[in-house]
Amino acid sequence: MVEPETAGEPKKDLSSHPKSLRLLYLGEGPGVKQRGPLAVACFQKVAAMLLLYDDPRFLEHATGAHPESAHRLQTVSQHLTTAGLTDCCRRVGWEPASWERMRRVHHAQHLTGLEQMALAGGGRADPDTIVSPQSFDVSRLAAGAASDAVQRVLQGDVQRALALIRPPGHHALAAHAMGFCLLNNIAVAAQQALDVGLQRVLIVDWDVHHGNGTQAIFYEDPRVGFFSVHRWPFYPGTGSAAETGAGAGLGTTRNLPLDFNTSPAAYRSQVMRELDDFAARIRPELVLVSAGFDSHRADPIGGLGLEVEDFDWLTVAVVEIANLYAQGRIVSLLEGGYNPQVLAECVATHLKMLRAGGDAQ
Ligand SMILES: [Zn+2]
Repeated sequence: MVEPETAGEPKKDLSSHPKSLRLLYLGEGPGVKQRGPLAVACFQKVAAMLLLYDDPRFLEHATGAHPESAHRLQTVSQHLTTAGLTDCCRRVGWEPASWERMRRVHHAQHLTGLEQMALAGGGRADPDTIVSPQSFDVSRLAAGAASDAVQRVLQGDVQRALALIRPPGHHALAAHAMGFCLLNNIAVAAQQALDVGLQRVLIVDWDVHHGNGTQAIFYEDPRVGFFSVHRWPFYPGTGSAAETGAGAGLGTTRNLPLDFNTSPAAYRSQVMRELDDFAARIRPELVLVSAGFDSHRADPIGGLGLEVEDFDWLTVAVVEIANLYAQGRIVSLLEGGYNPQVLAECVATHLKMLRAGGDAQ
């Protein structure tokens, strides 16, 4: 048995990767230079370092004929299971986010409004955003996964965690649901890190849509660096390069808006340059990822020309930043991605590279 994620793959263009990651890809780094029993042991060791959050209860957020449907996660789950990828991850139980935890990010009126709408049988929180009877509980479970993952990573239980959750969160504002999002999961994660004493957190948002909710929540907070690459002009309309933070947070927001016709190569070169520069400025103690996959060229509501393979180098880029500044600590949360089969392939790539990240050290 060799590492299934690398066996038989063609050589990649590695010219822009740091040396440690080039070694990882080429199978020449520590822990991967030998095949056979040692490779198996290393593979198992690396595998044990990724904590995976998934749960069938996430399917109970019932949106009907809507792009953000339970079918997305069903397809992802089936694909990961068939590929044997979930066998190699650690799992834990976790609690839904407490009221107090949600209140660190959201206004009480927003939470009670969602709860009451769900209890009343559901409705629409905004024209795009459906609330079903189970949606508030499912949202709390998603936010709870985000919070739990941060706690465990900061405690040193694991270096990296991936939460395959829904509904997504990065459009949700402190006081409003928006754009399929009810609670802002990544903001809950960042606030959890701040509440246990971290001073510098980096959020990398590569969903094709601008993470307006996340940006707004931390716009004046110097402890949270927010980096977003997104299609622009596009929904939700925010995310220009001129939005850089305010007050004490001035300079801790970095937007990279890209035209629809941006080529994958141009996307890559700009992200690498801007993200490396911003990470050096923030020097994060923890890296959080708003992992949306709707910038794939086949996404029905997004699309920015990316291929599945682009989520390989994107993941490596954040792994390298985490290894450089944050003791390798990453928590990645699923955001968008609305072509279920493509989403499944993108998540598989992301998972594999997160899992392998430890060997890059
Ligand atoms: Zn999106």
